[in-house]
Amino acid sequence: MPSKSDLSITIDGPAGTGKSTVARLLAARLGLDFLDTGAMYRAAAAIVIDHGLDPADVDAVVSKIADADLHFDWQTDPPAILAWMKPLNDRIRQADVTKLVSPLAALGELREHMVRKQRLIAQQHPRLVSEGRDQGSVVFPDAPVKFYLDADVDVRAKRRAEQIAEANQPVPEPEQLRTDIRERDERDMTRAVGPLVCPDDALTVDTGALSLEGVVDLLEAECRARIDA
Ligand code: C5P
Repeated sequence: MPSKSDLSITIDGPAGTGKSTVARLLAARLGLDFLDTGAMYRAAAAIVIDHGLDPADVDAVVSKIADADLHFDWQTDPPAILAWMKPLNDRIRQADVTKLVSPLAALGELREHMVRKQRLIAQQHPRLVSEGRDQGSVVFPDAPVKFYLDADVDVRAKRRAEQIAEANQPVPEPEQLRTDIRERDERDMTRAVGPLVCPDDALTVDTGALSLEGVVDLLEAECRARIDA
């Protein structure tokens, strides 16, 4: 756990609110490192699929993920997620991974493993903008600045369609995208361990009402004001 003098900024929120992009840009503006914890859960899902593991076999899943020694290459921008020292960046955005990741992220033992890893990363990179679902609530509850990004499901589905198109993958119908997002939110918000919640001390930002630049400006101003204070 980082000490109070360390600078951790957490950004949580549901799928498609722009957390990763915002966190990366905010980190660059403030000269901090950027931790994409979704990439870690996505890497776990990719490994489970690609190694033919049964997602219900928790022991086998956790042992394989531990063996993969998930970590980031901090020399790249954004930092690449590595498993067995190999980058998984393209694989983790594919549709089968997106489908499995939320059910897999509900496994308590896997979450314990990830939380430990994320706190270790924070020890090595104590000046961090960390984004995910449980960063301000569970992983870094003492973080001095916390944000919760939200947006209407239509806005989020439109963004998701753009991301999928940019990755040159087949874009599902808008209604399908909305259903997928709602289902993922529901699972992430209702799981027993590390559910997506808005921390009491987080500032909520509706990213649907602002441009990307506008969101980053707002967060940067808030961080500078709180750090100065
Ligand atoms: O943010 P992203 O969409 O890449 O996250 C993929 C999934 O990983 C989420 O839907 C959630 O199920 C899981 N996740 C999590 N806890 C985190 C980050 C991501 O459960 N801190």
